[in-house]
Amino acid sequence: EKAEIGLIGLAVMGSNLALNIAEKGNKIAVFNRTPQVTDEFYANAGALKDKIIPCKTIEEFVEAIRPPRPIIIMIKAGEPVDQQMAALQPYLDKGDIMIDAGNANFRDTIARFDRLKDTGLTFIGMGVSGGEEGARHGPSIMVGGTEESYKRVEKVLTSIAAKYNDDPCVAWLGNDGAGHFVKTIHNGIEYADMQMIAEIYGILRDGLGKSAAEISSIFGDWNKGRLNSYLIEITEKVLAAKDPATGSAMPDVILDKAGQKGTGKWSAIEAQNMGIPATAIEAAVAARSLSAIKSQREAAEKIFGTPDYKFPIAFGPDLLKDLELALFAAKIGAYAQGFAVMAEASKEFNWSLPMPVIAKIWRAGCIIRSQFLDEITSAFTKTPDAANLIVTPAFAEMVKESIPSLRRIVSAATASGLPVPALASALTYFDAYRQARGTANLIQAQRDFFGAHGFDRVDGKDIHHGPWGSGAQG
Ligand code: NDP
Repeated sequence: EKAEIGLIGLAVMGSNLALNIAEKGNKIAVFNRTPQVTDEFYANAGALKDKIIPCKTIEEFVEAIRPPRPIIIMIKAGEPVDQQMAALQPYLDKGDIMIDAGNANFRDTIARFDRLKDTGLTFIGMGVSGGEEGARHGPSIMVGGTEESYKRVEKVLTSIAAKYNDDPCVAWLGNDGAGHFVKTIHNGIEYADMQMIAEIYGILRDGLGKSAAEISSIFGDWNKGRLNSYLIEITEKVLAAKDPATGSAMPDVILDKAGQKGTGKWSAIEAQNMGIPATAIEAAVAARSLSAIKSQREAAEKIFGTPDYKFPIAFGPDLLKDLELALFAAKIGAYAQGFAVMAEASKEFNWSLPMPVIAKIWRAGCIIRSQFLDEITSAFTKTPDAANLIVTPAFAEMVKESIPSLRRIVSAATASGLPVPALASALTYFDAYRQARGTANLIQAQRDFFGAHGFDRVDGKDIHHGPWGSGAQG
């Protein structure tokens, strides 16, 4: 019996995905560049062995799969994917499908898709979220490619995807790079969500003197309410954990330098490319970069001194409610920005990205999974063409209720010198977004003064330059 699907790359993600595929009853052929890795994987596959065909050569691997062959490539992103594709291509037949399931830049995915177009082979770019655990037991899967090629893999992917109630968290989202683009924005939102949680943690730790254990139990309470989500749940857990080496709270012994692999940055860059404001996501990416220049921060603190950071609002149930609502309001802002970027990209790249479906397949399996995404699903189902999440009727109500808290918390934090870049960005995004007459009239006047760029008038009169006189440039 031939395999239903093949998978190349048996590192953390690929091996877990392969076991998931086998466990759901799909026969799978596997291959890894270094054959010992394949041996080890197969040796540890236990009861799933009879669903797995371990292969030592590409030739043997391709032969083991039922045509048209879907082949998942789950290896190190970038150059290695192109090398692996080139090594595979000579053995494939018309109709076979190469599926890149790594964290590719969607622009590379579009290029790979185009490159294969005239060869009779097809290419799918597939975003997979949920880390190791998701890959093994149910990830959220975002697929881009032709709809026809998706049909060939739909059954297998549906069987392995996470389920929200009974809905599988997998969908075909559009042509070429659509899946990897949506995965990128998922990660951009994830950056913002994590940064905002970290800023609230900073207020509690530095502004209110709370211990990691105390903050853990606050997040634990919030996880029972409207903030209920995987990220809040793990925040409670990491804050409660103890360092085996010293007995201190685990976060207290971890250096405050955050890493990043690029997807947050790509989200911010693409938002800028398209002229869509995504300030909370940008702030979160910049916050990671600021965290990384620790020696500069240490030197600067010596020059400027340490503020006492004392939060001007007394700790108690009212403040806790305010912090919870502030985080909620800011979270709405970040998600609204992420969805707005996707809406614009959908037009720009001809994808017709289905907003309610994207929200739906993020409800389980992925890192930003939450109750909240079910509410976004419902808001976009009712008003799929809403210009922005925050003006959908349900979210407009939530924003009205929660923005005053965000305003109080950001004001108090900035007054005490506590950095809250993502929370503040979400707040000013809202303030600017709902301001019918802003201040860009002055920018236009300045641009016309120094560069004769011209402006439109509020009264519509056909006069486009100001009486700037001799000081102005032509
Ligand atoms: P790694 O990114 O660590 O890559 C290791 C795998 O790539 C090995 O199987 C290795 O084979 C193979 N490889 C490296 N270079 C080549 C090459 N030139 N040709 C062929 N194979 C090569 O693996 P992960 O499992 O961590 O991640 C896989 C993909 O999934 C990446 O794109 C990653 O960004 C993405 N991802 C990872 C997540 C995670 O939590 N780790 C979450 C979501 C996505 P060999 O054994 O021979 O060295």
